[in-house]
Amino acid sequence: MSIQDSLEKIRPALQTRVANSLARGAGVRENFQEQLGRFLDLIAQALVSGDASWLDPILEEWSNARTQTDLQQGERNLSGLLHQVITYSLELGREMLSEADALELVAGLMPIYLHAVEKAAALENESRLQYVSNELQSAQIRLKKLDKSKSNFVAVAAHELKTPLTLIEGYAAMIGDLAAQENEQMHMLIQGTHNGIRRMREIVDDMIDVSQIDNHLLVLNFQPLWLNRLFNMLQADFTNIIGQRRHTLEIRPFAGSEELLFADPERLYQALKNLVSNAIKYTPDGGKIIIDGRILSGFVEVTITDTGIGIAPENQEVIFEKFGQLGDVSLHSSGKTKFKGGGPGLGLAITKGIIEAHQGSVWVESEGYDEVKCPGSTFHVLLPQRTQPSDPNLAKLFGAGENSPAQLPDDF
Ligand code: ADP
Repeated sequence: MSIQDSLEKIRPALQTRVANSLARGAGVRENFQEQLGRFLDLIAQALVSGDASWLDPILEEWSNARTQTDLQQGERNLSGLLHQVITYSLELGREMLSEADALELVAGLMPIYLHAVEKAAALENESRLQYVSNELQSAQIRLKKLDKSKSNFVAVAAHELKTPLTLIEGYAAMIGDLAAQENEQMHMLIQGTHNGIRRMREIVDDMIDVSQIDNHLLVLNFQPLWLNRLFNMLQADFTNIIGQRRHTLEIRPFAGSEELLFADPERLYQALKNLVSNAIKYTPDGGKIIIDGRILSGFVEVTITDTGIGIAPENQEVIFEKFGQLGDVSLHSSGKTKFKGGGPGLGLAITKGIIEAHQGSVWVESEGYDEVKCPGSTFHVLLPQRTQPSDPNLAKLFGAGENSPAQLPDDF
C-alpha cells in the first residue's frame, strides 16, 4: 500500500482518538474536529510534497489564537496536540496496518512531525517571552504611576503641612519673646517647642525637595561662587554642634576651591551641608571631618571624609535612594546631628538630585561598616567646572567670558 493510502486508512480513527483525548464537550469537539481535519490534510500534503513547512501556517494560526490564560500559565497546547497526534499515529499504524506499511508510514511521517514539534516549541517560547515582556512592561508602567501618585501625595501633604507650621512658628516666636521677659523656665520650654518646629520644617522642606527632584521640577539658579566661601559658611553653621561633639572640622585649601565656579549656590550649599551633617552624625564624639578636593580636567571634585562608623559596600548605593536609611529605625526621629540620630532618610537622595541636576555625580567610598573600628567614609562630589553662566542673560551681565569678581555678589 502507498504511504498516502496508509495515512488515509488510519486518518478517521486518528482524528477521533486525538479529538476524544483533547476536547471535552460536544460543541468544543466539533470545532476541534474541523481544525484537526485541516491539520491532517496538511500532513497529507507535506507527505506528498516532502515539504514539512506546509504545517507552518496552521501552527502559527493556532499559536496566535492561544488565550491569555494559556500564555499566563505557560500552557504548551501546541506541543501537547502534536504529542497526541504522534502517539496515536504509531498506535493506529500498529493496529490497522501491516508491519511493513506501518514502518513505511512512520518513516515518512517522522521528519514532518519533528519539524512540527520544533516549530511549535519555537512559537510557544516566542509567545511566552512576548507575554512575559508585555507583562513586565505593564508592571513597570503601573509602578511608575504609583510612584508618581505617591510623590504627588508627598508634595501636596508637605505643602499643606507648611502653612499651619508657619503659623505655629510665628506664634511660638511671639510667645517666646513675651516669656523671655516674664520667666526664664517658660522661655526654655518655648525654646524647646521652637527647636521641634524648626526640625519639622526641615523635614517638610526635604519632602518638598524630594518630590521636586522626583518630578524633574528642580530648577537651578546658576550664580558665580567660590567653594572656599561655601566651606567657611559650613564651618560657621556647624561650629556649635562640632564643639558639643568634640569633633574637628578641617578645611584643606585646594586650587579649585579658590576659583570662580558657576553653580546654584543655595542648592550646592544644601547638598554639601547634608554631607557634612551626616559626617558629624555618623562619627562618634571626638572624630575628625576633612573637606578637601582637587581639580580634574573639566571638573572640580570635593571630598568630605569622616572617621565615623563607615558604610558596608552593599549599602553604598542604597543610601542615595529616598528613605534609604540603614540601621535602627527607632533612632530616626532623633536630632539631625546627634550621634547616629537619623532623619527621614531623604538627605542623600536630595544631595544626589541636586548634584545630578548640575550634571555632576556623587558617590561614597568606605571600607565597610564597623561601629568599633570606625573605618570612616569619604563622600565624593564631582561638579562640572563651569566658568560661564549657562543663562544667556547672566552671560551678558558678566561680559563674554570676562567674569569680573568685583561685580559679583559677596555672599558666595
Ligand atoms: P538620614 O536622614 O537617615 O541621615 P540620609 O539620606 O542623609 O538620611 O542618609 C542615609 C543613610 O546613609 C543614613 O541613615 C546612614 O545610615 C547612611 N550614612 C550617610 N552618611 C553617612 C556617613 N557619613 N557615615 C556613615 N553612614 C552614613
